Amino acid sequence: MDHVLANVLHERVFAILSQLESASTPQATISLTSAWRTLLTLHEQTDTGACKACGPRWRKHMCSVWRVATAYFIRHDRDSSPP
Ligand SMILES: [Zn+2]
Repeated sequence: MDHVLANVLHERVFAILSQLESASTPQATISLTSAWRTLLTLHEQTDTGACKACGPRWRKHMCSVWRVATAYFIRHDRDSSPP
């Protein structure tokens, strides 16, 4: 996957996770966001474009972990935004 696009997605997903961890966030949500952050860190892209955990087979596409994060955090977030 394109490094620039990967970096943009990475920053956006981690920004959304940070938004979910405000002072009034229930502990259960904080645990979920922490788990997601750890999982996504384990699946970060290497310099060659491969996934650290899944390996080089994902070089041209996001691995399944990042596809799910993008679908749930970015697409759902955009869908719920006011027009
Ligand atoms: Zn992966």
